[in-house]
Amino acid sequence: MERKTLQKQNEELQRTIRMTVRRIEHNETILKRFFDVELKLLACNKLSDLIALLLTDFKHTFKLSAVTLYLFDPDELAKDLLIGIPAAHSKALTLFKRPDELNELYPNSELQAGELSTGLRKLLFPDNPFVLSAAMLPLIRQDCLIGSLHLGAQDSDRYSIDYRYDYLSHLCSVISVCIENCINQESLQRLSTIDPLTGVHNRRAFSHDIAREINRAHRTQEQLSCLFVDIDHFKTINDNYGHQTGDRALRTLGNLLKEQFRKTDLISRYGGEEFAVLLPSCSEKEAVCVAENLRQAVEALIIRDIEGSPFRLTASIGTSTFAPALVIEKRDDKALRYQSELLLKQADFALYEAKRSGRNRVFSHALKAVRRENESIDQSVNG
Ligand code: GH3
Ligand code: MG
Ligand code: MG
Repeated sequence: MERKTLQKQNEELQRTIRMTVRRIEHNETILKRFFDVELKLLACNKLSDLIALLLTDFKHTFKLSAVTLYLFDPDELAKDLLIGIPAAHSKALTLFKRPDELNELYPNSELQAGELSTGLRKLLFPDNPFVLSAAMLPLIRQDCLIGSLHLGAQDSDRYSIDYRYDYLSHLCSVISVCIENCINQESLQRLSTIDPLTGVHNRRAFSHDIAREINRAHRTQEQLSCLFVDIDHFKTINDNYGHQTGDRALRTLGNLLKEQFRKTDLISRYGGEEFAVLLPSCSEKEAVCVAENLRQAVEALIIRDIEGSPFRLTASIGTSTFAPALVIEKRDDKALRYQSELLLKQADFALYEAKRSGRNRVFSHALKAVRRENESIDQSVNG
């Protein structure tokens, strides 16, 4: 009898141990999943990558039906950094200029979990009527709510107020720090590389761009072209219409350049009314063609002064091309710097020639081509 009891107790004990081991293994799996996510979060240095991770990776990793994110963005820094993110991400992301709506979600600043009311479901997951329970994660930095992450599940008891969410709470802190870091770092980097008036690269960024592209041209053995664009008689525009209208003209030209060129081309404001564009994988002949299209587009632009009266402007363009196949010297830093400077100097010289020949034209350094309205490319190339 006593033996039987002992055996029973033994079996009971073994069952308990098995269950405990299973629970430990399960917790280890969860912990590892959280640990992996945390490493990925910490590795993000772009806000758009971080948002993609939260909205897409989280959904798969944690087997969720929907993930949405609110961010407090009073100065529209995040908005600027997220231009061009995939439509699915911008749909799941809401940016707030005022903190009230966010603060209303968290009366006691704590993580919330449980079944969703219809109203809250519509608010947090407007595109997903099947979400029945959710965890709402407050993102807090220096005692201020900077955002809110919402994890939605179809299972009505996946999230409940009765469970503990220590891992998720920890993750909230990591996410908050990562968001703040990405915004700060990227905004700072922008400040040092982007021209605030036109939104294109500044001269400092251009010198990095050209060195990198010359290096790449060597690697790929493809030609690299450079355009130097200068507005004709810009001083007169300032004199006639005022500096403010002059600024508007520069902004309009900056936007035109952004529209006209490929994503891989690099546009910079080199000086006051001078822009430089680098065209990777582009021959001199192609560069002349591109420059001529640009010259015509500038000529067709209608700009308005502050009273709304329209006026036009023209630009002269110099082009030059770097052909790596023709370079025999070593590829050290000094040679790369020399090649960058030469490419720029040649475009600048071609621009000077275009100005000297009467303005509103394209002049190519190597092809010695002057492009004017109604001239064909072949004519100019032969000329
Ligand atoms: P050219 O046809 O020979 O290029 O003549 P230009 O008048 O365009 O050239 P110039 O170099 O004599 O004058 C450039 C003018 O650009 C002078 C300067 O006041 C103006 N400028 C430079 N930066 C800015 C700016 O940020 N805003 C405005 N509105 N004007 C600027
Ligand atoms: Mg000028
Ligand atoms: Mg100039």
